[in-house]
Amino acid sequence: MRGSRALTLGVADLLRNPGQRRDEALEAVLGDLRVLGSEVPADAPVRLEVHLEAVGEAVVVRGSVAAPWGGECRRCLGPVRGRLAAPVLEIYETHPTDGETQPLLGDCIDLEPVARESVLLGLPLAPLCRDDCAGLCPRCGTDRNQTPCGCPTEDVDPRWSALDDLRLDDLRPDDLDDSASSRRATRSFGGERHLLPFTAERTG
Ligand SMILES: [Zn+2]
Ligand SMILES: [Zn+2]
Repeated sequence: MRGSRALTLGVADLLRNPGQRRDEALEAVLGDLRVLGSEVPADAPVRLEVHLEAVGEAVVVRGSVAAPWGGECRRCLGPVRGRLAAPVLEIYETHPTDGETQPLLGDCIDLEPVARESVLLGLPLAPLCRDDCAGLCPRCGTDRNQTPCGCPTEDVDPRWSALDDLRLDDLRPDDLDDSASSRRATRSFGGERHLLPFTAERTG
């Protein structure tokens, strides 16, 4: 089925019976699921597998979303494909909290917003065709996965390799601060890990 109606579920049975549970598996083509480095193909279905539970006057939805994706390798620009899986968690209630829970639509819930959000979080921002992709030569443009081009590489400043690690796929909101600051700390010592002797003694 196409469009959001495919992801609308009736939940009258749950609302009438607190504690009631139900499992559902649904598929829909949502379209327009795209981040910087990858996207769900326009005609590809997104699959949702969820567990619904009535808690008080709310319906709690937990589960996972899965979809195929395609993109461009960040090093060699070749095509990359994969399949994403991401967790889903949403609460539906009559009087939703803005930005935190979703409204009950009469006796129905619409799973499309949470499905979209989860897919977008699961799409890779800077995919690689394989972990050791050699990429394009910055001098002559040769795909070094196919042919070694023989261009000198010794003039590449090794400090840039720290930047290579700092690509977008590391910059997930959860660990943004940690990874950025720890890499900064590493770079400031020229890439070496300096272990400071811990000599402070507790006195008193
Ligand atoms: Zn590649
Ligand atoms: Zn080259």
